[in-house]
Amino acid sequence: MTLRFKRIAVKIGSNVLTRADGTLDITRMSALVDQISHLHKKGVEIVMVSSGAVASGRSVMGISKKLDIVEQRQLFSSVGQAKLINHYYELFREHGIVVGQVLTTKENFSSRRLYLNQRNCMRVMLENNVIPIVNENDAVSVSELMFTDNDELSGLIASMMDMQALIILSNIDGIYNGSPTDPESKVIMEIEKGQDVSDFIQSTKSTFGRGGMLTKTTIARKIADQGIDVIIANGKRENMLLQLLDKKVGVVSTHFIASAGEVSSVKKWIAHSEGFAKGEIHVNENAAKALTGDKAVSLLPIGAIKIVGDFEKDDIVKIMDDAGHSLGIGKVQYDSEKAREMLGKKNQKPLVHCDYLYLE
Ligand code: GLU
Repeated sequence: MTLRFKRIAVKIGSNVLTRADGTLDITRMSALVDQISHLHKKGVEIVMVSSGAVASGRSVMGISKKLDIVEQRQLFSSVGQAKLINHYYELFREHGIVVGQVLTTKENFSSRRLYLNQRNCMRVMLENNVIPIVNENDAVSVSELMFTDNDELSGLIASMMDMQALIILSNIDGIYNGSPTDPESKVIMEIEKGQDVSDFIQSTKSTFGRGGMLTKTTIARKIADQGIDVIIANGKRENMLLQLLDKKVGVVSTHFIASAGEVSSVKKWIAHSEGFAKGEIHVNENAAKALTGDKAVSLLPIGAIKIVGDFEKDDIVKIMDDAGHSLGIGKVQYDSEKAREMLGKKNQKPLVHCDYLYLE
């Protein structure tokens, strides 16, 4: 077997792990664990992002009319996560592999310090041959500040851990060029940068998870733009993961081809931080042109025309053009008060250095 990738993040969706009645499909879990173990033994570095906590907790506890949606999610995920990780632990133990649980929240991606702390934790695990199994800490996550779904989380993890590929295992074969129920429809095998597939995306949500094809595609594109290959495939099919990783085997799936070129680790973090922006810097037409051109340029005070909001040095800010359209985001070098004083001035240090700019 010639391996296509040496470092991968594998996202396993709730629908792959649950049976039609909502209970955990241990046979499927075991088959996936066999494949991951095989790859691990071949030296592939793997971070797993596994859903299924809420679904499995729900099947244990049953739906209660006395609890609201948030309470149910908290209860189900706390029970279900314990069950899920317990199964994984035992299944991997049969292969002599140790796994560890990482439960995270969106807030852990909000500052560079928390982000690096988290990355370090997973690096230590990998260095010690432990496979991290990540999930959102649904039990304590606040609804307003949750990941859209585990597809989003897996994208952040793949990017944070500098993976070569993110493999999203779902219960469909990939993205179809029509309705998946229409026999004429075919899976789009490869999607290049800039290729618009929005017409094909079904907005139906998954049965047991929060995700859907729409978020999968958006995340996949974003991650592929950072130089990471993203593959959406059917995790219910036999040996899917092994076939995907084998250079010689062609298997039905949708591959978002990674853009060429390195994206620095800081830029990867910034790319995902839009939701945490504390303010805005508006720039004039010349600056907008320079920023969106081919060369890497910094945002200088001379090109800035307006500062919106209150922010501290090192916060994430949005960069807007003079018509108020978003150009991208960046990590700002000055607080908002100082930035206001510097507006329009010549010969000053950049407000946002090009290494810390992520333009759309
Ligand atoms: N974190 C949720 C779970 O483990 C899944 C979220 C999603 O469906 O993507 O149940």
